[in-house]
Amino acid sequence: MGERRVVVSGGSIAGLSVAFWMRRLGWQVTVIERAPAFRDGGQNVDVRGVAREVLDRMGLFEAVKRQNTTERGTVFVDADGRVTAELPSVGPDGATAELEVLRGDLARTVHDHLPPGVVSVHGDSIETVTDSAEGVRIVTSAGRQIDCDLLVVAEGVRSAT
Ligand SMILES: Cc1cc2nc3c(=O)[nH]c(=O)nc-3n(C[C@H](O)[C@H](O)[C@H](O)COP(=O)(O)OP(=O)(O)OC[C@H]3O[C@@H](n4cnc5c(N)ncnc54)[C@H](O)[C@@H]3O)c2cc1C
Repeated sequence: MGERRVVVSGGSIAGLSVAFWMRRLGWQVTVIERAPAFRDGGQNVDVRGVAREVLDRMGLFEAVKRQNTTERGTVFVDADGRVTAELPSVGPDGATAELEVLRGDLARTVHDHLPPGVVSVHGDSIETVTDSAEGVRIVTSAGRQIDCDLLVVAEGVRSAT
């Protein structure tokens, strides 16, 4: 049997992490990202619990820690800048996690540590999916036809697929 093929739709934290692991397991991996290039930006993501465990197993915990926003807590202030309420960082499960990282920085760290051989397609997205006993056939908006064994949809909260 040849290498198994997975298509991942969405090239952010979830999609790139799937690509990371599936490539390591020896699959042929194609990531289809709708944006024309790698997407930076986004706000704080708290890394805790199982997310931290996953980063440890990927060997990326230290790399992500270097991107820590160094947030120390949250304060609400009035018009004169006086603190009216405080959400301090208390322990690993406080409002501010031990590891706070911007979405784009986290995604880029995974992106920059992908194993060789992951194919990235930008500026395209899945138009149709046909599931059969032989596998999954995908046709994209740009007219690419890709046959694979597994489709993983990691398009975030506004997923259309
Ligand atoms: C202020 C703020 C605070 C947050 N705090 C936290 C937090 O503390 N903890 C936490 O876990 N999360 C937090 N989030 C949410 C965090 O941004 C998401 O959890 C994280 O980005 C989800 O990653 P994802 O890979 O699933 O999806 P996304 O980062 O949304 O990525 C989806 C990707 O798929 C692409 N895409 C979408 N549709 C298609 C399509 N049809 N075809 C191809 N590609 C497509 C998009 O372009 C994007 O690159 C926060 C968000 C905000 C705004």
